[in-house]
Amino acid sequence: MIALTDVTKVYPGGVTALAGVSLSVARGELVAVVGPSGSGKSTMLHMLGTLDRPTAGRVRIDGYDAGALSDARLSALRARRIGFVFQQFHLTAGASALANVADGLLYSGLRPARRRERAADALHRVGLGHRMRHAPHELSGGERQRVAVARAVAGEPALLLADEPTGALDSASGAGVMALLRELNTAGTTVVIITHDQEIAESLPRQVRMRDGRVVDDSTADRITTGVVR
Ligand code: ADP
Repeated sequence: MIALTDVTKVYPGGVTALAGVSLSVARGELVAVVGPSGSGKSTMLHMLGTLDRPTAGRVRIDGYDAGALSDARLSALRARRIGFVFQQFHLTAGASALANVADGLLYSGLRPARRRERAADALHRVGLGHRMRHAPHELSGGERQRVAVARAVAGEPALLLADEPTGALDSASGAGVMALLRELNTAGTTVVIITHDQEIAESLPRQVRMRDGRVVDDSTADRITTGVVR
């Protein structure tokens, strides 16, 4: 579904955040990305999500060469196919959960009434049907992250990318959000999760380990080369 080939990213100022990363994620996978702070995890997620363009190398999504698409076509592709969840939720203060999720569908081409219906469906899906009218400050951290997940999946993207989704949560709320991400994966969404939490990483079927801008370990690749199923 998505493939990085020899992707390099050098930020202005000269920091090499990715130094030749190749990674393929197949439809239906649930992948953990781990590694020390500064190893390039967020940058790689930005590449997978086409939020930023590589300095060199190729990004393919569903057969499209992202490098060959204009910014407008790339945004359209991203809006239809990819959902994002971040550590700090990024919800609009003062807007209800329903409005936050519906706003995520602004570029979907749906009419406002249909956007609200879809948003309500997504909130029910994450177990927040009873909190739709609440603003973020009236919700717990775990509930806020559920709203963010609802916003990410309201457009039914094939791919969900999450950057430390449990990083700002207590362990019980974090476990709830992880259970939700697993559920979405079981229902067919491909999910890639950056996590510092070793326990979470080990509970996922595939772990990709990064260091100094490179993939230094990939449990799927290990399994293919050693023939050992973990
Ligand atoms: P991680 O997610 O593993 O902590 P990042 O991908 O955020 O790693 O960062 C990798 C490297 O790139 C770090 O050295 C970081 O300081 C640098 N970096 C990240 N984003 C930028 C940016 N926008 N501009 C310049 N340097 C950046």
